[in-house]
Amino acid sequence: MKETLTSRMLEFIDACPTAFHVTDAIRRRLLDCGFTELKETEVWNLDSGSYFVTRNDSAIISFKIPKKSFKGFHMIASHSDSPSFKVKENPEMPSAGAYIRLNVEKYGGMLCAPWFDRPLSVAGRLVIDEDGKAVTRLVKVDRDLLMLPSLAIHMNREANDGYKYNAQKDMLPVFADETGQGRFFDVIAQAAGVSREDILSHDLFLYNRVKPVTWGADNEYIAGPRLDDQECVYCSLEGFLEAKSADYVSMHLVFDNEEVGSTTKQGAASSFLKDTLERICDGLGLSRQQYLAAIADSFMISADNAHAVHPAYSDKADPINAPVMNKGIVIKYNANQKYTTDAVSAAYFKLLCKEAGVPFQTFTNRSDVAGGSTLGNISTTQVSVNTVDIGLAQLAMHSPYESAGSRDPEYLAGVSKVFYGK
Ligand code: ZN
Repeated sequence: MKETLTSRMLEFIDACPTAFHVTDAIRRRLLDCGFTELKETEVWNLDSGSYFVTRNDSAIISFKIPKKSFKGFHMIASHSDSPSFKVKENPEMPSAGAYIRLNVEKYGGMLCAPWFDRPLSVAGRLVIDEDGKAVTRLVKVDRDLLMLPSLAIHMNREANDGYKYNAQKDMLPVFADETGQGRFFDVIAQAAGVSREDILSHDLFLYNRVKPVTWGADNEYIAGPRLDDQECVYCSLEGFLEAKSADYVSMHLVFDNEEVGSTTKQGAASSFLKDTLERICDGLGLSRQQYLAAIADSFMISADNAHAVHPAYSDKADPINAPVMNKGIVIKYNANQKYTTDAVSAAYFKLLCKEAGVPFQTFTNRSDVAGGSTLGNISTTQVSVNTVDIGLAQLAMHSPYESAGSRDPEYLAGVSKVFYGK
């Protein structure tokens, strides 16, 4: 396949099964591009240049400070996490006298059915004992390791009439036959290149092994795991790295834990952004007044994927504002401000799209349906800036294998570059 921004994005997604891997992949890319890594535990003395800081190894903020004095901050926010199943403590569970299953619990609100009958594996982070010090290690078991087998139709004749999944009964994947007892952490330790006795603790998640693909009569669609929200993470990063910022500090924000409400120390409701903004201004020797003036002149794009109209359920979408894949960036509106978009922020964003030559479309929920919310309205409780909520149209949101348009990633990268070039 010809290499395109979309094909590179699918490779990125395939390599990033968890928020820890997303953060690590961005970190390595930024180091390659000459960015300086800052630590939250150290004092920052800043000058013009390119920097980044991580929190919890699962959220990352990168920024470019222009040479001359700047007006404010231009930010695009997205999230590193996706719905999955988290491996519990002491996870090995003998089952039916013949198997070892993994005891897992839900992370976020997923569609359960598509997790069945496909190869799964485990990835995340370990904290290991290295000579008495707790050291974090990324881990990805890069092989087909687990399976969630369906119950045969013969044993449940009503299976096609709808099914209510019980997370403690139905959703525990098979890891081994009965001889596999005690082997799980051997597999994990081997994949991480550590010894099993040194593992102190873990944050491990299931991931879908099916590779991303391009599909459709004219290859107009893509499918893969975690398009929500790694599509926005990747495309905004492309624009961020390509743009030469001028009058604003460019900031690329990737928060964790959006799928579980954002209220963690590394989520959009945390102090991570506010702390970073304050430290940028402090580190440049700006006054409190200058900081507040800069915030007032700032703009945020909250980028999280949007629902495309479903081929069989157009009645689930708003009769008019129903996005279509490959028809451009979706601007999201909600009267109750679950989305931050208002006339002012929408107008600003539309001008950016026009300048970038990128199409845009609009999304609202049906008036009789309560929709979801996302990063923008949560982040503005910490730092209040003019914000627009946008995303790329996709189907099967929160399935472990989602579909989207193959042309839309270019649009988001394009408008990001124009925004960051301001
Ligand atoms: Zn999302």
